[in-house]
Amino acid sequence: MRTDQFQAPDYFNMDDLLTDEHKLIRDSAREWIKKEVSPIIEDYYERAEFPKQVIPGLAAIGGFGPYIPEQYGGPGLDQISYGLLMQELERCDSGLRSTSSVQSSLVMYPIYAYGNEEQRMKYLPKLATGEFIGSFGLTEPDHGSNPGGMTTNFKDMGDHYLLNGAKMWISNSPFCDIAVVWAKNEEGRIHGLIVERGMEGFTTPETHGKLSLRASATGELIFDNVKVPKENLLPNKSGLGAPLGCLDSARYGIAWGAIGAAMDCYDSALRYSKERIQFGKPIASFQLMQKKLAEMITEITKAQLLTFRLGQLKNEGKATTAQISMAKRNNVAMALGVAREARQIHGAMGITNEYSIMRHMANLESVVTYEGTHDIHLLITGMDITGIPAFK
Ligand SMILES: Cc1cc2nc3c(=O)[nH]c(=O)nc-3n(C[C@H](O)[C@H](O)[C@H](O)COP(=O)(O)OP(=O)(O)OC[C@H]3O[C@@H](n4cnc5c(N)ncnc54)[C@H](O)[C@@H]3O)c2cc1C
Repeated sequence: MRTDQFQAPDYFNMDDLLTDEHKLIRDSAREWIKKEVSPIIEDYYERAEFPKQVIPGLAAIGGFGPYIPEQYGGPGLDQISYGLLMQELERCDSGLRSTSSVQSSLVMYPIYAYGNEEQRMKYLPKLATGEFIGSFGLTEPDHGSNPGGMTTNFKDMGDHYLLNGAKMWISNSPFCDIAVVWAKNEEGRIHGLIVERGMEGFTTPETHGKLSLRASATGELIFDNVKVPKENLLPNKSGLGAPLGCLDSARYGIAWGAIGAAMDCYDSALRYSKERIQFGKPIASFQLMQKKLAEMITEITKAQLLTFRLGQLKNEGKATTAQISMAKRNNVAMALGVAREARQIHGAMGITNEYSIMRHMANLESVVTYEGTHDIHLLITGMDITGIPAFK
């Protein structure tokens, strides 16, 4: 079993910008991960299984709905704390962060922001403790980057809604207790519905054969004439803006999470380069190695500064969708670049499961695609600065 020797790089003294509470939350998460998750993550990754035994611990560190108010069972933290938690989780594994992101921003957030008081009280406390695990159904087999084209639909049958359709690539689906599902009504308007496991006609087959994000469960959500009680419709927001609002919150978390993956790759590469001797010297003494390491820490530091500022804006309620897009896109691409350089620094050892590098690199190939692809986020920036949408 590999010992987790991670030491966080902080080249521009970012810690000075954090409060004592921020540091406590981050350090508790880091300690829990080193003790409980790092020792088992490679094994679960290879088995392509989410380690369900970490769910209570994940809840205890505030990993489910960090910014959900205490009256609904959440820890009521600020957005920087939420970001730091995502950084620590993804430092371990993007799949671990994905489970937390989906539960927090794609399930708890819409119930909190678009649901009524009964829905909040019924679901949020159980989601906060991990007693319930949720999934978020937006993507369909024929509608990924263009979710507005969705065909999943529901009809008003008087005393209930009748839901039909299928969602694909859904994180947590194989073992979710509830799913927040986006579907069109008879007028073609998108609404969110809470679908519960056990409803007749609702199935969640697992997707196999993933070579990325293997420690996170992915599957489908299939609705075959599912009778959904009318009280399960989220009443306070409809239209495509409703699911996109959830994605803003999740993408913000990804921007922080990707930094965590990059920090882990850099930390491992720095240590390895000082220990590995070739031509009678540590490989860290060669200029080409130093170039790689210097560029890695420069990119990580730039991403840390960008993301901290985004966190301040988010705390003030001022962060825009386009700013979040820029940070998600930049940080995930940065992390992929760092992972690839770190892999080379480790030489042949870099392709083994002795190190976390290949796992991070493979995971980041999902992260660069989900929650809006790298190119779609570029087009969001393009639209924001020119005023012209180039999607269609
Ligand atoms: C592991 C994993 C977990 C996921 N979890 C969830 C989840 O929990 N819930 C959920 O709803 N979804 C989830 N997704 C789905 C994810 O959000 C989609 O995969 C993503 O939105 C891209 O859709 P797509 O795969 O259909 O690609 P497509 O939309 O088919 O895109 C294919 C390529 O075409 C490009 N492209 C598309 N349109 C344009 C355009 N207008 N201009 C230029 N280029 C374009 C894209 O950038 C991409 O490179 C998950 C995906 C993965 C891989």
